[in-house]
Amino acid sequence: MLVSAKEMLIKARDGKYAVGQFNINNLEWTKAILLTAQENNSPVILGVSEGAGKYMGGYHAVVGMVNGLIKDLNITVPVATHLDHGSYEGVFKTIEAGFSSVMFDGSHYPIAENIEKTKEIVRIAAEKGLSVEAEVGSIGGEEDGVVGGGEIADPAECKQIADLGVTMLAAGIGNIHGKYPANWKGLDFDTLAKIKAVVGDMPLVLHGGTGIPADMIQKAISLGVAKINVNTECQLAFAEATRKYIESGKDLQGKGFDPRKLLAPGFEAIKATVKEKMELFGSVNKA
Ligand SMILES: [Zn+2]
Repeated sequence: MLVSAKEMLIKARDGKYAVGQFNINNLEWTKAILLTAQENNSPVILGVSEGAGKYMGGYHAVVGMVNGLIKDLNITVPVATHLDHGSYEGVFKTIEAGFSSVMFDGSHYPIAENIEKTKEIVRIAAEKGLSVEAEVGSIGGEEDGVVGGGEIADPAECKQIADLGVTMLAAGIGNIHGKYPANWKGLDFDTLAKIKAVVGDMPLVLHGGTGIPADMIQKAISLGVAKINVNTECQLAFAEATRKYIESGKDLQGKGFDPRKLLAPGFEAIKATVKEKMELFGSVNKA
């Protein structure tokens, strides 16, 4: 059964570890992440961007697939299905379809409008027991057409949004989506500490988890980050494993063209990536 992300994030915040959000794209992705969470006794958040939701056929298809896998694979660790960088309309569509958690990304609106829309979403989500993530200061890079400028969030604005009763807050601290450039300056820990000081107990979310060095991840967790989003890293691992399979001509040998064989190396690569992240984030055996 899908659960809200609230309880798992409160436990993570108090236990000084982070729960990974791994974005899904299809059945293989979802199955790989759920099995890895179960094998490592870790809570997990399945991220679904609006683009990925559309790709998988729609939000009802996503909820049906995730619920079916949880049942058929006997997944007993806490699982949340979370809309990633949702639009105002997208939030309502995913709630209707049965998502257990939503992110409303109002970071591109003027702060007053971000506040007004976030407030409305918090009210509706509370009635249904769902968790809500809000964002202040856009995350850099591009994700499914959502382009962020890599802003550093204003701690005062973070407090205004946190006070609306959201479950978790994503704040830009120099993190970006996709691969980090060679001249990246690193995370802005001074800003993170300032945000933490004003938002108190609010679990913080670090987007763009791909390629952030382990020591920075651990420092971010020590400063209040309780959820870390990973997307690109699973995509890179899947693509590399699939390319190796094709380049070595395995698809041309025997029944190597069978999609269950063709996609197996990529599936295993996602599992290995997710396991590595769960170990780094400290969520193993925290289900
Ligand atoms: Zn993001």
